[in-house]
Amino acid sequence: PQLANQIAAGEVVERPASVVKELVENSLDAGATRIQIDIEQGGASLIRVRDNGFGIPKTELALALARHATSKILCLEDLEAILSLGFRGEALASISSVSRFTLTSRTAEQSEAWQVYAQGRDMETTIQPASHPVGTTVEVANLFFNTPARRKFLRTDKTEFAHIDEVIRRIALAKPHVTFSLSHNNKLIRQYKNANNAEQQLKRIAAICGNDFIQNALHIDWKHEELYLSGWVALPQFTRPQNDLAYSYVNGRMVRDKVITHAIRQAYNEYLHTEQYPAFVLFLELNPNDVDVNVHPTKHEVRFHQSRLIHDFIYQGIVNALQTDDL
Ligand code: ADP
Ligand code: MG
Repeated sequence: PQLANQIAAGEVVERPASVVKELVENSLDAGATRIQIDIEQGGASLIRVRDNGFGIPKTELALALARHATSKILCLEDLEAILSLGFRGEALASISSVSRFTLTSRTAEQSEAWQVYAQGRDMETTIQPASHPVGTTVEVANLFFNTPARRKFLRTDKTEFAHIDEVIRRIALAKPHVTFSLSHNNKLIRQYKNANNAEQQLKRIAAICGNDFIQNALHIDWKHEELYLSGWVALPQFTRPQNDLAYSYVNGRMVRDKVITHAIRQAYNEYLHTEQYPAFVLFLELNPNDVDVNVHPTKHEVRFHQSRLIHDFIYQGIVNALQTDDL
């Protein structure tokens, strides 16, 4: 089974940033409001994610590392209406098969925390008591220590950390109620404090995307039946390199989606007569039954059941904002 895990790891665990993404998504699924990410040497020597979520019960700790063990879906019906970020039960199994992996957790019902350790193929499933507040800490040390071919593909610490930084930016944009702190080699690099009102949220978006983006962007707030689109789309005067600021989220999940980008471009093309790729941060909410997220292991892609409808809805929302704005 460890070999299968290592193969699966090839799909989910490309580099330290993908580990960080999976771990932080688990923290969010656990309802965490504070997530601390500590990185050493670009993540090659250590990735530690600590949260104040609801934790993992002692009895489920070893199981959490098993393949296809997920507490998030119980049946096929659940798979059709996913709201949690995780659901495949693959991440921890994969990551622990290619690292020295420690999982420490405590639930509110437990008076003490418990810890499991796994090291590549030799899974050590003995559980030992540990000291930890309610929540979970995952430590991933020596990533790819047993898969040298993969390890060889790691870039410089600086590059790997830049990817991690980007992952945290993307997630932090979508989760304004959560405080994130990110440090590298024991130095605090980012601190995104939780935002409790619209003003704080705007500040936080500005902290992540820059003041100039917010000042030169249309605010989108558009509803139709079960569809809701919100966020910001930059006007053409916003000239920062556009392709690095294109963030779309479907039900809180960051995705790359042609339907969404096409709708934005079409609105810009027709109303502003520009072929430019606008910068944007957009959140689409829809009934989870109307979108398939189980398209790819990294869960970056979605499939809308009625993509034409979604396309036209987004197009209309942006056209409406363009028309209302005093250009
Ligand atoms: P998935 O997220 O797809 O369910 P993972 O392999 O990422 O699968 O995690 C396996 C299981 O471990 C989760 O379903 C969850 O029950 C538990 N788990 C992992 N990380 C955390 C966390 N930070 N807090 C609480 N539970 C967690
Ligand atoms: Mg997960």
